[in-house]
Amino acid sequence: MTEAAFAPQDAAALLRWYVDHGIDETIGEEAIDRFALPPPAAVAAAPAATAGPAASTPVASSPTAPTPIRAPAAPAVVRAPVPLESPQLAEDAREVSRRATTIAELEEAVRAFEGCALKRTAKNTVFADGVAGAPVMIVGEAPGADEDRLGKPFVGVSGQLMDRMFAAIGMSRERDVYITNILFWRPPGNRTPTLSEQAICLAFTRRHIELAKPKIVVLAGGTAVKAVLNTAEGITRLRGKWTTLTLDDGSEVPALPTFHPAYLLRTPASKRQSWADLLSLDKRLKELGVR
Ligand code: URA
Repeated sequence: MTEAAFAPQDAAALLRWYVDHGIDETIGEEAIDRFALPPPAAVAAAPAATAGPAASTPVASSPTAPTPIRAPAAPAVVRAPVPLESPQLAEDAREVSRRATTIAELEEAVRAFEGCALKRTAKNTVFADGVAGAPVMIVGEAPGADEDRLGKPFVGVSGQLMDRMFAAIGMSRERDVYITNILFWRPPGNRTPTLSEQAICLAFTRRHIELAKPKIVVLAGGTAVKAVLNTAEGITRLRGKWTTLTLDDGSEVPALPTFHPAYLLRTPASKRQSWADLLSLDKRLKELGVR
């Protein structure tokens, strides 16, 4: 009788563990069974357990010591050559984005841009959601799996939390906010984007802010804060502190760093501070006469 390798509940727990750690897709065409025995040829080539040690290989004295089984080599995945990212690519992005005079032109330029390697592994370009020209522009980090699938920013669980938080001060993405990220493509496995990837996309994002002309920019999470404000200071120090973002066209926008909603999902106790940030945003909007 053939036994299943895992009980169904163990398999489900393993899958959940993978997803919790950001492993939510297989990369090759075929899944690799790392528990499979080596192919027969490899077994034949391996020294027999009872044949004694090779001259240079010390062996455990116990005759019952398990023989290590090596996983079969992963099938070679042939990829198109990826050009090295360089400062020139960030300069190209700046050049292209400067030529865009409307948000629609900028979106077209982002979709046509081939200088960011992340585009090759992403399913979709995630440009923006909400109301272009709204008083508040939220800038997050990067699309996750849900955003990549649907092509819109902040539509997964952290985006749903963000929507509920803004709803608590009477604001919605259908009416009052415009949402984007510093990256337009999902980094594989949700890894932190490299500085080079950030620099390339940030050129477009800064132009995006110039063209959207929000009254206030809300920077969600440490990565967005560091990139947009060009600072090494951490989010814990900066959150809730208003600052001024100066853009390349010389315009200035008040900016509010705040925790990323994904962080709040992991650390619910920090929601208190985020609530204070939201109240501060609401107050500032009223002072500006937009609410
Ligand atoms: N996290 C982000 O920073 N942006 C998204 O769009 C989704 C999750």
